[in-house]
Amino acid sequence: MCYTVIVKGVLAMITEFGKVLRKLRIDRGEILKNMADKLEMTSSYLSAIECGKRNIPSDFIEKLASLYELDESQIAELNSAKDESLNSIEICIEGKNASQRDLALQFASKFNDIDEDFAKQMLSLQKKRRRTTMSTYFKKCDVCNKDIVAQHWNTKYCPDCKIIMRKKQQGAAYKKYEEKAKQEYEDNIIRIRNSYARISAVAAEARKAGLTYGKYVASLRDDANNEIN
Ligand SMILES: [Zn+2]
Repeated sequence: MCYTVIVKGVLAMITEFGKVLRKLRIDRGEILKNMADKLEMTSSYLSAIECGKRNIPSDFIEKLASLYELDESQIAELNSAKDESLNSIEICIEGKNASQRDLALQFASKFNDIDEDFAKQMLSLQKKRRRTTMSTYFKKCDVCNKDIVAQHWNTKYCPDCKIIMRKKQQGAAYKKYEEKAKQEYEDNIIRIRNSYARISAVAAEARKAGLTYGKYVASLRDDANNEIN
């Protein structure tokens, strides 16, 4: 089963595709009927295609190309005009899973209610998805501006600059490590100095009390214990 999503547009005006088609016809010096006969369709049907009242059949450009021996640039022009002139999109939901079918049907029935903001959000979501699933990205190196083909969307540097940037980062990390080690060393010296100062202060007190260092510290410990008890 195929579900056709109709996007309403101004249908009475000649479409972009119609313009290109009409130009081709006039260039070949043909009236509508001649071209329609060659394409095996009625002239009213061909006219409806030119005016966007009828969908462009899927094999239409192919038929035109072989009939008028069009070159690649002419085919490309017709294809892009066709994209611009679309006023309905067919989504085939045959063989799709329940979620996919549901999404397509909901989209079709709610399409007219979709505002520009929501449409933009959907488009950016789709862009994001494409970014993470595509495997080749054409970018410019952030450092030397050389063209690069990247495997990830967030690649910033060409291989040469990547090595330089990595060395720089490693250099910065090593410098940080060095600074930290120096700080720790200085802190240690201060700690040792402080503990020496404490010990010599205690030793001076012991001398004043006429006790050995060990006995004085033991007496301090006993005093502390007595206070707790
Ligand atoms: Zn570079």
